[in-house]
Amino acid sequence: MDEILVTRSSMPDIEEYTNEIKELWDSHWLTNMGVKHKQFQAELESMLGVKHVALYCNGHLALENILEALGLPKGGEIITSPFTFASTTHAIVRSGYTPVFCDIDPVTYTIDADKIEELITEKTVAILPVHVYGNICDVEKIAEIAGKHELKVIYDAAHAFAVSYKGKSVAGFGDASMFSFHATKVFNTIEGGAVCYHDDSLEQRLKDLKNFGIHGPEEVAYVGGNAKMNEFCAAMGICNLRHLADEIKKRSAVYARYRELLGGKEGLTLCPAQEDVTPNYAYFPAVFDKAVFGADRDEVYKELEDNKVFARKYFYPITTAFDCYKGRFDPEATPVALDISKRVLTLPIYADLALEDVDRICGIILSLSKT
Ligand SMILES: *Cc1c(COP(=O)(O)O)cnc(C)c1O
Repeated sequence: MDEILVTRSSMPDIEEYTNEIKELWDSHWLTNMGVKHKQFQAELESMLGVKHVALYCNGHLALENILEALGLPKGGEIITSPFTFASTTHAIVRSGYTPVFCDIDPVTYTIDADKIEELITEKTVAILPVHVYGNICDVEKIAEIAGKHELKVIYDAAHAFAVSYKGKSVAGFGDASMFSFHATKVFNTIEGGAVCYHDDSLEQRLKDLKNFGIHGPEEVAYVGGNAKMNEFCAAMGICNLRHLADEIKKRSAVYARYRELLGGKEGLTLCPAQEDVTPNYAYFPAVFDKAVFGADRDEVYKELEDNKVFARKYFYPITTAFDCYKGRFDPEATPVALDISKRVLTLPIYADLALEDVDRICGIILSLSKT
């Protein structure tokens, strides 16, 4: 039996890609905001319905750059949640801010908006919530809190590309939203990312940050770094964007099959569909309660692994429990996040995952159930 990984990168036909990059062999223009970069950026702006999209070599640097571009007072506190990928917390810390951890909602696993206000202090400068698994945060409540306390809101939307809420792309919420186009995401540019924002005045600063602050051949106006998306990645994005709707449709069939086979099983919790949300079926998390189901997350993980099915413990450990943050942050301060992280398993999901494989995966999981 072939092994099944948690995800499998979407790729266009090789002919489609080679056709897309042919121009680059003619022009020898491989990076630095060339034709592919410009075209891809324009396509995203129109698809997402946002005024500005800045393309990046990865999502993480997009996040660090928008944090810097916003010019928030250094040393300020940023309210976020620890049930996320390392990038979110690292970006805050590496940018010179102090993350303040809010617990997560026990149903959507996104930041618990009802617990944000009690964490706000004189030093709070922003809120950085994560649309975990493509589940949308309580964007209305977060906007209300941010408005009341004059805080910036930056969404880590790495999981939520192509997700919309009440007919609007998630890209438009908050002051800025970051997407990751990493190979493992629903939509990829091999490596890549973007930040979407509304404020015109951020445009030049983001350009400076991703291209050394160079304004002209003899003019360097800002101490910037390098985080540009190159032409080959932009070309991959242009190709993959053509197939995105189809990929998501195929994912939805895999998702539906999982729900059909695992839904309603005692001791096994799945994420409910969110009202008014058009999902992207990015992940399929399942949370196990050993006392009821009969096996814990680690036992399920191991049994799948023994059958060459490689699920992932996203997100375990929570970022506050990382070795690099030992003694600095307290994992116990967010009990819901801590609990879910110990019981969650994200199951394989990608467009080309065969429904028979989903059946097999569910069979392995259910074989461990005592009910
Ligand atoms: C993937 C991911 C990132 C970082 O994106 P890269 O493109 O890999 O740098 C940030 N946050 C979350 C939640 C992610 O899943």
